[in-house]
Amino acid sequence: MSTPEIEIRRSSRRRTTAKAYADRGRIVVEVPSHLPEDVAEETAAKLVARLRSRETHLRDDEDLAARAREVADRYLDHLVDGGISPFTIRWVGNQRQRWGSCTPSTRTIRISQRVRTMPDYVLDYVLVHELSHLAERTHGERFRLLESAYPHAERAKGYLEGYTAGAGWEPADG
Ligand SMILES: [Zn+2]
Repeated sequence: MSTPEIEIRRSSRRRTTAKAYADRGRIVVEVPSHLPEDVAEETAAKLVARLRSRETHLRDDEDLAARAREVADRYLDHLVDGGISPFTIRWVGNQRQRWGSCTPSTRTIRISQRVRTMPDYVLDYVLVHELSHLAERTHGERFRLLESAYPHAERAKGYLEGYTAGAGWEPADG
């Protein structure tokens, strides 16, 4: 992975904590506006290191597949006759305004690279959603039952809605 550009933004809305996130290939670090410059740079370096270690932690398709199997085992297998497997899963870069997609006929799941740097509970929610489509194509009652087996679904949806609004996207559903 190449070294991303880092931008430090001073925000008057931030009071005590700093925040780092990926934005169009750069890493943006928001720091409280009153923070001295050397402290801001040190804080930014720490947050960027943490963000990047999370990225490399879930770097390749194999890691993603392992995580998806874990999520299927923990939340969904007991709700589906014979379990949720088999499936194949990979990261993709071209999911416009979608977090993931599922093709039940080939049991293939694709997850947007954008999700890779999001918190684990958000990735797990996206996995639960797409894995649930292996058992149920529509977003009907059975689907909602499967998805609700994941305890952090509402929080994760809130995170994704916030991201969608922040990026100025129209909401889309995979
Ligand atoms: Zn869906």
